[in-house]
Amino acid sequence: MTYLDFERVVSTDSASWTRADPRRALIERHSPTDYVVMLQDGADSHAVVYGLERGARVGYCDCDGYQYSDDSVPCAHLCVLRKAEFIGATSVDGERIEAIDTAALAEADHDSGLRADGGLEPTYDPDAVDRVERPADLATEGGWTGQ
Ligand SMILES: [Zn+2]
Repeated sequence: MTYLDFERVVSTDSASWTRADPRRALIERHSPTDYVVMLQDGADSHAVVYGLERGARVGYCDCDGYQYSDDSVPCAHLCVLRKAEFIGATSVDGERIEAIDTAALAEADHDSGLRADGGLEPTYDPDAVDRVERPADLATEGGWTGQ
């Protein structure tokens, strides 16, 4: 996903930012980061991804405005989500709009049971181990006879 430069869009007073009005928009939330946004009743709906990566807002939109703009310039649909988040607006289902950290989501999705070790260095260099010795006390398995 692309980092979004909302400050640039605000400071240039762009049409995208001005058009984006969360009170007129219809926002459906399909997953923590997947939205369908309609700027106003009857407008085209667009699939929008909106989230946080390392504290910065990231996103994507399938509209032409996003596709043909500079990468980091958010379109009106992304601006609606940013404004909705700021004023505490909700989706059509009453969910708060909020940029969720995608790393936290990935962790929740694939919880392997592993926990962070607090950043300790490993006591050995895993790359230096090129061969694993078979433990001496482990007997070789008997041959399979098929009986
Ligand atoms: Zn868009």
